[in-house]
Amino acid sequence: MKTNPPVQKNQEIDLGIDSLTREGMGVGRVEGYALFVHGALPGETVRVRVERVEKRYGYARTLDVTKTGSERADPACGAYGRCGGCSLQHLSYPAQLAWKRQWVEDAFSRIGGMDVDVAPVLGMERPWAYRNKAVYPVRRGPDGQILIGFFTPRSHRVADIDICGIQHPIAEQAVAAVRRWMTEAGIAPYDEKSGTGTVRHLMVRIGFGTGEVQAVLVTSGDGLPASDALTHSLREAVPGLVSVVQNVNTRRDNVIMGDITKILWGREWIEDVLDGLTFRVGPLSFYQVNPVQTVALYREAMKRAGLTGTETVVDAYCGIGTISLFAARNAGRVIGVESVGEAVADARENARLNGIDHAEFLCARAEEWLPRAVAEGLRPDVILLDPPRKGCDPKLLEAILAARPERVVYVSCDPATLARDVKRLTEGGMYRVEGAVQPVDMFPQTGHVECVVGMGRVR
Ligand code: SAH
Repeated sequence: MKTNPPVQKNQEIDLGIDSLTREGMGVGRVEGYALFVHGALPGETVRVRVERVEKRYGYARTLDVTKTGSERADPACGAYGRCGGCSLQHLSYPAQLAWKRQWVEDAFSRIGGMDVDVAPVLGMERPWAYRNKAVYPVRRGPDGQILIGFFTPRSHRVADIDICGIQHPIAEQAVAAVRRWMTEAGIAPYDEKSGTGTVRHLMVRIGFGTGEVQAVLVTSGDGLPASDALTHSLREAVPGLVSVVQNVNTRRDNVIMGDITKILWGREWIEDVLDGLTFRVGPLSFYQVNPVQTVALYREAMKRAGLTGTETVVDAYCGIGTISLFAARNAGRVIGVESVGEAVADARENARLNGIDHAEFLCARAEEWLPRAVAEGLRPDVILLDPPRKGCDPKLLEAILAARPERVVYVSCDPATLARDVKRLTEGGMYRVEGAVQPVDMFPQTGHVECVVGMGRVR
């Protein structure tokens, strides 16, 4: 039977909002039909105009908030609304944390079919200026001006944004320096449509523990005119600068970085310090963006790993070896596995920098390496997992069950794939979740959450 949506385009209605999407949209229902409303919060009543009607859901615009919720906050950042970044700034910070906890609980019950304890989210004392990495698209504006900023909500249009509330302020100084250089030297920004122009992105990374700064200019081709003037402009403007790097990306897709990097000035990496350990980070390596919360996250992971100094530990998605070296302080042997070669090189160097000689690093896909290693007899005591959003490959999970480690500690940036994978690991009865799932707020003001789960072997 075909049912028509109960609303029509341009209709004005009063709507009670009962939930919130990760994109920060309030959801209200008319006879069960969901309407997504930008900027409206649960507990509020809003007067809306329906803007788009699809078969099973629609979109509406707020005309007036007739009943304001108690959780509403004034967005603190000047770029809020223009920038597609932080979607939860209009929600008070305690309410953001409560919402993230609920989201994790829901993921475990709906996707995992599991009833687990979810601890209150570990939040930040000051949930601003926390990011150590900024990536800015560089484009030409409608009036020919150079835009270095952020994509506006749901678009490929770049807006110039001189301030970002969650970014370390030094990044803005690098933006100003690059803008000045492009204007003075007549360097063209990249044009997505034609594939012409030179500068595609600017990435800035700051070591919070050292003050060291790296600027990476992503270019569409090999050549970079006036590169001396670029490094001069950056060195004048950016305190702590130790590295200016060009990355060449000739592809026509949305991937930001290419494979080739060239040092323009200084060295190819920055160093940072986390909890007393020194890490070198190269431009192509993954590094957690919120260093304060990273330490909190790794400490939670270590609590669940229960290391006593003798264990053999596998860190299956080790990046530059951060969690591996935290673990090495209390383990007999650590094997880190990572698919990006540059990150493996950083990890080896990081072990050396910290005088750790019982951590080794391999460049491989975890789901290909672990089954082989287990077949050859490797029996790790503890396996640490920290995969990208898509979670673990089933072949890796099977290999873990075959390896029968005492404990598995899973760090995840996506509650849905986490719940799916924890279900797979525990459903046979060999493992059970131990203690509470601990969410950590790595990304305040945004619709993202990080979690740690510990699992122990039952039989
Ligand atoms: N634990 C590290 C890195 C986590 S990010 C940290 O906290 O910093 C996930 C890492 O897994 C990235 O470095 C990515 O390059 C790597 N990776 C992605 N797929 C992989 C795979 N199939 N096997 C091994 N490593 C992988």
